[in-house]
Parts: sequence; structure tokens; C-alpha cells
Amino acid sequence: MAFGAVSAGVGDGASPAEGCDVARRAALGRFENFGRDGHPCRLGIMGGTFDPIHNGHLAIARHAMAQLRLAGVLFVVAGDPWMKHGRAITAAEDRFAMVRAAVAGEARFEASRMEIDRLGETYTADTLRALHDFLPNSVELYFLVGADALAQLPAWHDAPRLGSLARFAAVSREGAPPLGSEALAKAAGAIGASEIELVSMPGMDVSSTDLREKARRGLSVRDQVPADVADYIEMHGLYR
Ligand code: ATP
Ligand code: MG
Repeated sequence: MAFGAVSAGVGDGASPAEGCDVARRAALGRFENFGRDGHPCRLGIMGGTFDPIHNGHLAIARHAMAQLRLAGVLFVVAGDPWMKHGRAITAAEDRFAMVRAAVAGEARFEASRMEIDRLGETYTADTLRALHDFLPNSVELYFLVGADALAQLPAWHDAPRLGSLARFAAVSREGAPPLGSEALAKAAGAIGASEIELVSMPGMDVSSTDLREKARRGLSVRDQVPADVADYIEMHGLYR
């Protein structure tokens, strides 16, 4: 069955239909009925570890919304069971709570726990397939990536099929390879897409890595994350 890999709340007693509803709600939150009116619309997908979410992530979503005419952006928080750059990452529930806090006041942004609730390794290709199962055909998916992530695309699981699962759009990033037409065409070829669109955005020199280091040294991160995220980091003593 299409939802077999999703574990959220699918207890022994739940019927398959109830299990699907629970999984769809966990994946889409208040976007649960996204696209149900049958009109063609576009949904942006912003995948990340969000350890923590910062103003750069939100800026990408805002610029993509305007330039790609997206009806909303879903922030998909990566699950736990893998190591990033060889370091253990902050608990998924903390990262999810920060993303939820960051989007709480934004009607067109939502946090998704679908990769957290799925058991085992989580791959973007599986996430996009699950979203196709949850959403009507009238919804077109746009996966948003920074230039550093774009350069890694050819190494992603199931890379050659990614282009058939969503359109991809990229934003430039300081310190990452520039997004010339050659780089975009190369990445498009690797994922089997005809093109990768470019979202332009003023460079934002912010990364979660820098913010973790700042917090570790007891410095404020308030100017680079939403206030509720800064409060969460302080209240829970993250990154100390
Ligand atoms: P870390 O330093 O832990 O890797 P990060 O800041 O890169 O964190 P991620 O959660 O890894 O954040 O990134 C999620 C997505 O956001 C990726 O596609 C990444 O390229 C993009 N991104 C993050 N920060 C920026 C930025 N300042 N400019 C452009 N893209 C960004
Ligand atoms: Mg990163």
C-alpha cells in the first residue's frame, strides 16, 4: 500500500483509511486540504535539517513564493537516523518544534513531520512520492534547494528520477558553486529534468553551522532567526 512506510499514529486498531488520514495530516499539517478545490496550483517543498531553522531558509521560501507563484511552502524536517557531516544532529522533535514556531504566523508556510515519522533512512525521492500520494494531481511540486545542495544532487538517492517527481528550483549561496547556466544544466541532466529554475535572492550569509557555533559560545543568534526560535534555543539550552 502506498502509505506502508509511514508510521505516524497508525496503530494496530486503525483502519487503513484512518491511517492514511493520520499520515496525510502529519505530512501536510494545516495544508491537509491543499489543492482539493481541483484548481492547478504549485506547492514549494523546502527540505532541510533545520538545525536550527534560520532567516535564510525563510527568505528562500518568500522569494520562491513570489517568483514561482507558489500557493504555499512546506518545510520538510529531515528525520534523525543519519549523521550529517559526521556529527550527531539535534533531536528531530526539537528541530521540528523550531520550524513550527518559525512558520506559526505565516499562513502560507507549514512544517511537515513526514520524514520524522517515516522509519529508517529518509530520502527526498520517497518524500516526493508520498506527497504525490497525499495530494491531488492538480498540485505541482517545486523542490527548493540552495546552491550547495544543488551541487550534491547527482549523489542523492534515486537522483535520475527526481526530475520526474518535482520541478527543482535553486538559489545561490555564498561559498557554494555559482549557479551559471552550465551548473544548472548539469544538475538538471543528473536528475532527468529539462531545466532547473533559478530563484534570485540577495545573498544571505547565514548557516545553521554558524548559528550552532555562536550559541555554543554563548552569543545571541536573535538577528538571524525568528524571535520564537531564539527563545526555544535559550529555553531548551540547545547547542551549549
Ligand atoms: P548546516 O550548516 O547545518 O548545513 P544550513 O544552513 O546549510 O545548515 P540546511 O538545513 O542544511 O541549512 O539547508 C536546507 C536548505 O537550505 C539547503 O537547500 C541549503 O542549501 C539551503 N540554505 C540554507 N541556508 C542558505 C543560505 N544562506 N542561502 C541559500 N541557501 C541556503
Ligand atoms: Mg546545509
